[in-house]
Amino acid sequence: MKRISIIVPCFNEQEALPLFLQEIGRVCEGLSEYEFEWIFVDDGSKDGTLALLKERAKEDSRIKYISFSRNFGKEAAIYAGLEASEGDYTAIMDADLQDPPRLLPEMIEALESGEYDSAATRRVDRKGEPPIRSFFARMFYRLIRKISDIDIVDGARDFRLMNRKMKDAIVSMTEYNRFSKGIFGWVGFRTRWIPFENVERVAGETKWSFWKLLIYSIEGIVAFTTLPLSIAAYLGLIFCLVAFFMVLVVIAKTLMFGDPVGGWPSLACIILFVGGIQLLCAGIVGKYLAKIYLEVKRRPLYLVAEDNLKNASGEKEEL
Ligand code: UDP
Ligand code: MG
Repeated sequence: MKRISIIVPCFNEQEALPLFLQEIGRVCEGLSEYEFEWIFVDDGSKDGTLALLKERAKEDSRIKYISFSRNFGKEAAIYAGLEASEGDYTAIMDADLQDPPRLLPEMIEALESGEYDSAATRRVDRKGEPPIRSFFARMFYRLIRKISDIDIVDGARDFRLMNRKMKDAIVSMTEYNRFSKGIFGWVGFRTRWIPFENVERVAGETKWSFWKLLIYSIEGIVAFTTLPLSIAAYLGLIFCLVAFFMVLVVIAKTLMFGDPVGGWPSLACIILFVGGIQLLCAGIVGKYLAKIYLEVKRRPLYLVAEDNLKNASGEKEEL
């Protein structure tokens, strides 16, 4: 019997979880030829998420939970789940039912056909999302597709099912600054894309503010392309060339027409402008430097406060 692990990152999801459990239970019932384990990763929730999981885990042996010592972010939660998962297939799914579990049978079918290593989902629309967020999200996907060589599909969700090979490949990427959408693309493998219409969150609120998303998107760019560094270098070169020609012009002008003093306002503007560009370029270099700094520290991606991995399956070895 094949085993399927479903990873669910949860951060303050006490309202959505009962509905999620109900729905995933319903879907898994229809897939009786598979054995399931649901790995809930409590990402430092401040509400009753962990208590609820513990309660439910007593009644249902499929429920496993890992609880972090604090909020480490969705990326860390996904990684912890992937490390813990033992299934032949592994799925990642949000707790708010925005990743509809009803797509699972279709995803399993794609993997069972042997033609694909993973089945991923993408939203064909962004109904119910604030327009400004949709706009920036679209711009981001367009930009990152242009400037990096990994293929990130517009509207791609983290919701996907993958086989052991692909899961192990992702776990082997131990980088500290994680950007899953890029990592999925980077590892490659054959992926079947399943489109679906956007579903709104069943309960609770989104955990992503506009700023959190903006910072996350910059992380994505820095993690998957070094093009900004080249842009900084080229900008420097262009400014050098422009300055060189300006010097020639000034020398020629002085020789021909003498040296009338004037034009200091334009000079001040140029100094400010070039100063700004210098700061921008130093900032870009600094961003990469900061990432290197965080990577070399080799801090753990997450810290576990408690879990029931061993008790639930009763067979997992001490890591
Ligand atoms: N999440 C998490 N840690 C965080 C933020 C979010 O584990 O720091 C989880 C959250 O519980 C949910 C999923 O990531 O299961 C997606 O979050 P959310 O629905 O808030 O994001 P959105 O769908 O609005 O992009
Ligand atoms: Mg959501």
